[in-house]
Amino acid sequence: MSETPYFDEAAKSANFERDGQFNIIGVRAFITSCASIADWMDDLYMLLGERFIDARLYLSARRAAKRTVAALLAEFHVPNEPAAKERFFTEFYAAIGWGHITYQLDYAKKTGQVIVKNSFLAQGFATKFTVEGRNVATGQKSDITRCSLLGAYLAAQVSNFFGEEVEMVEKQCAAMGHPECVFEVSHERFSLRGLRATTGEE
Ligand SMILES: [Zn+2]
Repeated sequence: MSETPYFDEAAKSANFERDGQFNIIGVRAFITSCASIADWMDDLYMLLGERFIDARLYLSARRAAKRTVAALLAEFHVPNEPAAKERFFTEFYAAIGWGHITYQLDYAKKTGQVIVKNSFLAQGFATKFTVEGRNVATGQKSDITRCSLLGAYLAAQVSNFFGEEVEMVEKQCAAMGHPECVFEVSHERFSLRGLRATTGEE
């Protein structure tokens, strides 16, 4: 068995079909550049404001992510213990290119943080497609964190690990010039830069 069985299982399941039905782990997926995603988000941020967009992305992704976490753990037969689950999500999300996750969690106190290196959202912000070529570094630094969508997935994962619903708030973002994105466990129901809302989970 390889050192990274979950990574390999996920990555090797990628299936390119000539009729356009790309899928990975049997799930219909598609590939786009991170720069394109960042472009779409730029527009939303500009039109509707970062607080509204971050909140909407977080809340909608949070609901989807809760189902995804349960489905993935079952699909990959991940043992029901924290170390195995952490390892699984690190390898799986690396395999599908979302970034490299490191969990720094205190299971007794149900606190801690999650570090993400190479977040696709932050890296998408840092590069753009231009007529001159692919993935041209913009050298731009964001004034705001860019990865609330990813935070929602981390929140669903950590909630599953802890057996208690928690949220993850991005405290620093690679898009702002930091080496990696840092998300902190929050026991606030949902709070993002002062904007409060309900996750609608109950
Ligand atoms: Zn970030």
